[in-house]
Amino acid sequence: MAIDGPAGAGKSTVAKAVAKRLGYRYMDTGAMYRALAWKVMRRGADPSDEGALEGILETTVVDLGADEAVLLDGTDVSGEIRTAEVGQMASRVSGIGIVRRRMADLQRSMGRSGGVVAEGRDMGTVVFPEAEVKIYLDASPETRAQRRFRELAARDPALTLEQTLADVMRRDRRDKERAVAPLRKADDAVLIDSTRLSAAAVVAKILEEVDAKSNENGRIVS
Ligand code: C5P
Repeated sequence: MAIDGPAGAGKSTVAKAVAKRLGYRYMDTGAMYRALAWKVMRRGADPSDEGALEGILETTVVDLGADEAVLLDGTDVSGEIRTAEVGQMASRVSGIGIVRRRMADLQRSMGRSGGVVAEGRDMGTVVFPEAEVKIYLDASPETRAQRRFRELAARDPALTLEQTLADVMRRDRRDKERAVAPLRKADDAVLIDSTRLSAAAVVAKILEEVDAKSNENGRIVS
């Protein structure tokens, strides 16, 4: 299953819940871009310098472990990568073709055996175009900023809602306007607007889609 959409649409929350319900693996592809971005920041590298990124990629292993651990060169960096700065850097490095090719290869090899709920920006369009169920999850910019703000404010007391809204909009614009694998709804994805929906309601809608698809295919999944 592929779940795509902009920042703060609620993808992670619902993707985790859906994966649990179906007994599938949850694949957080944003975390992979964040882990690489964190390394780029630590190295002080220029995110627009393809040569520098290529060098870093050659010696970098990003993996998703159990319990949502994000492993960068074997070290769990899950606690370090959930900041607005790392998100912005992820959005910058993810616009570079060589970075996307490398990440997409890793993601395809992780998803090869199926039974995966993959969450990101290009899951339904580029990485898993053959996914059985594709969801594009969206919400108004204000709602998405509020959700992000609630997540980040505990760790960053100086953060304001206005800053978070500007951050979310900047990242979305960059993700939608980039030349390679821009964020967009796949033609065969189901659009769900979560602005006025609880996470539980979104999960229920997605499970309905899964049921509809499995009936179409003559299989019972959930
Ligand atoms: O989903 P999350 O906010 O953690 O993603 C961080 C950034 O990583 C996004 O803003 C986007 O630029 C990039 N990303 C991507 N393709 C994906 C997942 C994330 O370009 N499949």
